[in-house]
Amino acid sequence: MRAARGGGTAAAAPPIGALLRWFARAARPLPWRTRRTPYRVTVAEFVLQQTRVETAAPYFRRFVRRFPSWRALARAPRSEVLKAWEGLGYYARARRLHELARRLVRDHRGRLPADPERLRDFPGMGPYVAAAVASLAFGAPVPAVDGNVRRVVSRLLARDVTDDEGREILAGWMAGRPAGRFNEAMMELGALVCRRRKPACGVCPLRRGCRAFAAGDPVAWPSPRRRRRPPRILVGAAVTIDGRGRVLVARRRDGDMLGGLWEFPGGKVEPGESVTRCIRRELMEELGLEVEVGPEAARVRHDYSHFGIDLRAHWCRPLRGVPRPIGCAAVRWIRPADRGRLAFSRADLRVWEALERAPAAGQREGASPQQPRAARIASSTCPGEAPRGTAARRRSARPGSTSVPAVS
Ligand code: SF4
Repeated sequence: MRAARGGGTAAAAPPIGALLRWFARAARPLPWRTRRTPYRVTVAEFVLQQTRVETAAPYFRRFVRRFPSWRALARAPRSEVLKAWEGLGYYARARRLHELARRLVRDHRGRLPADPERLRDFPGMGPYVAAAVASLAFGAPVPAVDGNVRRVVSRLLARDVTDDEGREILAGWMAGRPAGRFNEAMMELGALVCRRRKPACGVCPLRRGCRAFAAGDPVAWPSPRRRRRPPRILVGAAVTIDGRGRVLVARRRDGDMLGGLWEFPGGKVEPGESVTRCIRRELMEELGLEVEVGPEAARVRHDYSHFGIDLRAHWCRPLRGVPRPIGCAAVRWIRPADRGRLAFSRADLRVWEALERAPAAGQREGASPQQPRAARIASSTCPGEAPRGTAARRRSARPGSTSVPAVS
């Protein structure tokens, strides 16, 4: 049965010594736990936001190999940083990390301040990331409260706690302990033992001080939140091939979600509009290009945190006009073999993969709208991105370059 709720923030400390001893034994050998520097700690915290550890680890390794220091990251062009982040989702993280590096190098001689309050002034440094970096990189005694940690505290006290309450309670529990290790141990416990659906109370080092365990119903806390079903958006995209077998791609504007990434141009299908009509309209609005829309080339179902998209990519052939960046940052004809030089969102990577798996409809032979092959692709999940074209359509058109440089 569920225990009564209530109680203030004064809370008896659970056996923190047992937690730290458990962490010394059970901590996973993750790449950011070796050679801890402020730079590596910060990159790890950015990579890990909304991302599973197994997914984040290879990205982290590649990223710090490619950009081993604040200076190396600050020097890199934005396109290279986005390319290193390609497929990880939440591209705003990459842009903010890059901006952070540039500000640090320009204004602070490449040195991150240890004070969590000063850290908060930098891009991407919310309360959790600032506290995690300050404690893990500099030992500052400040609790880091993310969803996992809040869940552990809620269960230990058998009541819902807010982030602010959690910080206050944890500040008392961590007093006199090594702050970085304490925070990491709480995070690790939330990830490995006090899991959302199946807490492994039998092996938990905090079992002795846990009220939810004593109440016999640990998953009752925190209170479940009612989730609304995210809306689905139908999106049309053009796989436009020119007479030389090149594919037309567009780069999203920096200020937009997925800003700086390349995509197959297209946009949201309006009510009552067909996909083919949408593609014709979007290409005219965004690129000033009239196209003939042919059969479906690929289909991608992609889920983000607040919505999902059903992306229908169609073969297209240019009819009239020279593509120019009216509703996007840039436009290019690229050879399919060169697509690896540009950073695409995960949904667009799925389209590329589908095209590569469907050589009969292949672009190199000079595909035409008459070629009948549709590739269906497995669903993917990548939280926090925006459907193409929706932001662009809200902006007024502006004149752009009429040249279309090829990647070569
Ligand atoms: S005893 Fe169970 S509910 Fe309590 S903190 Fe440990 S794993 Fe979580």
